[in-house]
Amino acid sequence: MSPASATARPAGVFAGLVGQRLVVDVLQDAVQKAATGGTGMTHAWLFTGPPGSGRSVAARAFAAALQCPDGGCGHCHECHTGLTGAHADVEVVSPTGLSYGVKETRDLVNRAAMAPARGRWQITIVEDADRFTEQALNALLKSIEEPPPRAVWLLCAPSVEDLLPTIRSRCRMLTLRIPPYDDVATHLEAEGVDRSVAAFAARAAQGHVGRARRLAQDEQAQRRRRDVLELPLQVATVGGCFTAAANLVDAAKEEAAATVETMNAAETSALKDALGDVGGRGRARPRGASAALSDLERRQRSRATRTQRDALDRALVDLAAFYRDVLVLQLGAPVDLVNADLQTALQRLAESSSAESTLRRIEAVLACREAVDANVAPLLAVEAMALGLRQG
Ligand SMILES: [Zn+2]
Repeated sequence: MSPASATARPAGVFAGLVGQRLVVDVLQDAVQKAATGGTGMTHAWLFTGPPGSGRSVAARAFAAALQCPDGGCGHCHECHTGLTGAHADVEVVSPTGLSYGVKETRDLVNRAAMAPARGRWQITIVEDADRFTEQALNALLKSIEEPPPRAVWLLCAPSVEDLLPTIRSRCRMLTLRIPPYDDVATHLEAEGVDRSVAAFAARAAQGHVGRARRLAQDEQAQRRRRDVLELPLQVATVGGCFTAAANLVDAAKEEAAATVETMNAAETSALKDALGDVGGRGRARPRGASAALSDLERRQRSRATRTQRDALDRALVDLAAFYRDVLVLQLGAPVDLVNADLQTALQRLAESSSAESTLRRIEAVLACREAVDANVAPLLAVEAMALGLRQG
């Protein structure tokens, strides 16, 4: 057990934030100050941290706590709706296409300037805040420089460097870390997962909380992980490389589909309810209903593309960790294996190859991540990687 995991788990709306004690302290402090009049309230916050560290979870928890009369009790209406993004005065936005456009951003700025309908603050949570076009960013800057009295902006981005200095200098910055494995395991245990499964999932997911949860609870997710980690055994021949590449890309597609499916269904049915579709056939839908539905579908499609890329990236991270484990065995390094459940396969590869070739293979995987990030067609990038894994 590391000393970090000895600290108590945060309570109320912050309970979902795993291994982020420092961040929780800052947020709770801000909530307290905001409750006593709100003078000196910081109107723009920037949440950064690697995928899976909980940027968006932190922003939503903070939003809920700011709206809750009790500072984030975790069970009142403000807390529930704040956490799910359904609160009338908490808007959660993500880019519809590759980036936030200028018109979209101006609308956002106008809504942020409105008086809250029922809460204390008009809060806008911006996911992927690194994706503003330059013009859009200028529109946003004004609202952040001279914030309307009740407006609070919570921007989320992978890292501080992803944002222009003009914007980050006006935000209070909070950096989330990759949570310690012990904290992730304890969190899953509290959700009812068996201790040994929780420990395995936390380690295999390398501290990515959402992925650890899926690995612990979903057999399909476990199977997909094993499929991905079989790739190193399949690249002995050129033909094997192409098959393995296609399998990896398909596994990522499947994983992404599983992730967005439930979200999509819930959103669509919530929107249909809101539009008065409960009566079904024969009832006329209000004007603008089909536009709202097709807008939702468009956003869902762009999320599917993003999720697919993320899933492929996760698979590549898994693969890099596999070769990292091989290297650990080859060098006899006194550190734990990420994939301890695959010891036999790791050992076999460690004995039949050199540390130098393992390093080259890790580089091939990392090059593939960069290529996918730079929008190279996924299959092409993965095929090139698979061939690179085969050589030497
Ligand atoms: Zn509450």
